[in-house]
Amino acid sequence: MRAEERRVVEKLVKAGIEFSAAVSAPGGAETIPLEAEMVLAYLDDWKAVAAAHYQLEVEEYELWVALDGRAMCGERTRSGAQCKNPVSGRIQLSAFDWLMRHGDPCAVHGGETSTDAR
Ligand SMILES: [Zn+2]
Repeated sequence: MRAEERRVVEKLVKAGIEFSAAVSAPGGAETIPLEAEMVLAYLDDWKAVAAAHYQLEVEEYELWVALDGRAMCGERTRSGAQCKNPVSGRIQLSAFDWLMRHGDPCAVHGGETSTDAR
C-alpha cells in the first residue's frame, strides 16, 4: 500500500531533500521539521503529526492554537460556569509552558496577579 509514494519519498531523501511543514501555532504559523517517514502520515493527518511534534494530544493542540497560547483559568464561577479569565502572564506560550499553566487559577481565583507574575 502506497508503495509508489514511499518510493518517491525515498528518492527525495536519497537526493538530500529534507522536509518541513508550516503548521498553525500561536501567533500564526510555525515551520516544523518532518522526518521522511512522517511525510505520508502528514498528508493523511497533518494535525496528528503537528500535535505529536509539540507533544500534545490533538485536542490540546487545537485548543493551544485557538487560545493563541493563552492559559485559561480552570476554576468555576459561583454559578458553576467555567471561569473565562486567563491565567496571568504572557500569551503565545510554548506548547510545554501552555500545558503546564492551562487550568491554573486566574488572579480572581487565587492565582498570581499580573504584578506577581513579573
Ligand atoms: Zn478564574
